[in-house]
Amino acid sequence: MSRTSTPLAHDVVRFDAVRKVYGRSTNTVTALDDLSIGLERATFTAVMGPSGSGKSTFLQCAAGLDRPTSGTVRLDGADLSTLGERALTRLRRERIGFVFQAFNLLPALSVLENVTLPLRLAGRRPKKAEVDEVIERVGLAARRTSRPGELSGGQQQRVAIARALITRPAVIFGDEPTGALDSRTAREVLVLLREAVQGAEQTVVMVTHDPVAAAHADRVLFLSDGRIAGALDRPTVEAVAERMTRLGARADERVARGDAR
Ligand code: ADP
Repeated sequence: MSRTSTPLAHDVVRFDAVRKVYGRSTNTVTALDDLSIGLERATFTAVMGPSGSGKSTFLQCAAGLDRPTSGTVRLDGADLSTLGERALTRLRRERIGFVFQAFNLLPALSVLENVTLPLRLAGRRPKKAEVDEVIERVGLAARRTSRPGELSGGQQQRVAIARALITRPAVIFGDEPTGALDSRTAREVLVLLREAVQGAEQTVVMVTHDPVAAAHADRVLFLSDGRIAGALDRPTVEAVAERMTRLGARADERVARGDAR
């Protein structure tokens, strides 16, 4: 069985006994249920699970966008519960990159301006060589003055990846980053994320429902009812799809029994 909870210093994301309960008194939902997991630096992890299994909550807590009800979340060594809002914002800006399904680019800004925005928000002056390197890495050197509206979906997502890479974050979180892309373009985006892990020693954590996307990861974590329901190392599309079918069937049985959460 693969490692799911042994504490190790090189875990860049670490959850210990994390619970997240939404709502109050009689009307509560346990989104994360005593979850302990470590994600090693320079690895690519996909997080999967049926709808409502806690994937978004996991990502939100890992990125310091939401606070757990109890337990500790560490990111790049920092215990997020000890940080105030200001320190959390700074940590998110400097140590975390985000890539979303909907790209979330600013339409009025050029590719170059979108990519360098996180640096400028942090009060840092973009260094030309660094910016050029990142824009070249995602294959958009010829499009640096274009606006997002002039680019294809795949190109827009590559801008978003460059924007996530520019601060050299410890972790890049992806929320269905290939959800809006056709399969060929999705593959290009996944290859870029994989290169970030291999070349720049970054860590990628990606929520996806697509077994093909998940098979690009080093490891797939399966969530069910807010718990880790298993993990697959060096996943294949078939193995991921098979696990998801089983988890989905279990979730359907619970709905039929009337104890869905
Ligand atoms: P997933 O991303 O796997 O679909 P979520 O993390 O979004 O799962 O949700 C896990 C559970 O927590 C679900 O039952 C969901 O309805 C509930 N939940 C998520 N966010 C909230 C919220 N803000 N308020 C109340 N319940 C929530």
